Amino acid sequence: MTKLIVANWKMNGTLESTRKFCQQITSFTQESKTRNTLVICPPALYLKSLKNDLKEGDIKTGAQDCSAFSEGAYTGEISARMLDDIGCEYVLIGHSERRQYHQESNDLLSQKIQRALEAGLCPIFCIGESEGDHEAGRTQDVLREQLKVLGAFKGNKSIVLAYEPVWAIGTGKVATLEDIQNACAFIKEILFNEYAVVSPILYGGSVKGKNASSILSLPAADGVLVGGASLQASEFWEIATAV
Ligand code: PEP
Repeated sequence: MTKLIVANWKMNGTLESTRKFCQQITSFTQESKTRNTLVICPPALYLKSLKNDLKEGDIKTGAQDCSAFSEGAYTGEISARMLDDIGCEYVLIGHSERRQYHQESNDLLSQKIQRALEAGLCPIFCIGESEGDHEAGRTQDVLREQLKVLGAFKGNKSIVLAYEPVWAIGTGKVATLEDIQNACAFIKEILFNEYAVVSPILYGGSVKGKNASSILSLPAADGVLVGGASLQASEFWEIATAV
C-alpha cells in the first residue's frame, strides 16, 4: 500500500543546502524507486526553488503554515492562495510548535483549514497529547478534543491527519508501536463515526531511518511526518523506501 512520507524542515537550511538536498534526492530517485508519495515542507522562502529543483522527480511540496485570512493587511502572513499560486500542494496546520509558540487556538486552526481547502491545498492537520496527558492516560480525551476542529468539515475527504505526541517531537523518544497503532486507529474511528471523514493518518515524533519500517508497517499508520531526520537526503530516502 502507498504511504505518505512528509518532511518538515522547520526553520532549518539555506538556499545552498536546499539545492544540495534536491540534487541528492534526485539521484536517489534515479537509482531506485518508491511507490510512496513524498512531500517536502521547507521554509516558505525556499518553496519555489525546491519546486524548480525537484521538477524531474515526482516529489510534492508543502508549506509549514498558512494564514487564517484570504488576503489583506496582515503583515508577514502568507495566504493559502499564494502557496497554491507557486505550485505548493500541501500545508501543515496546527503543528505543536505553532500551537506552543504562536498560541494557535482551535478557532484559528479551523479558519486555516478552511483557507487551505478553498485554495485547493491539502491540509495536514496535526494533533497530539503532551507528556503530562500521556502519563496521566488522557491521550484519547485530548485527541477527541483536538478533533473538534473538524466539526466544520464534516464529510470532507481532502484532509490528512498527523498524530504527533508532543513529547516525541525532536526528543528521540518514540511512542511504542502499540501506542501508535492504538492512537491512529482511535483517530480513524472518531473521524468516521463523528465527522464522516475518511483520511490518511500519519505518525510523527522522532521517526528515523532505523524505526521507519516498523512504524510504516502498522495497519493504522498511513505514513509518517518527519522532522529532524528529513534534513539529510540520505536518511529521508531511507525512510521513504522503508516499506
Ligand atoms: C515534527 O516536527 O513534526 C517532527 C515529528 O519532528 P521530529 O521528527 O524531529 O521528532
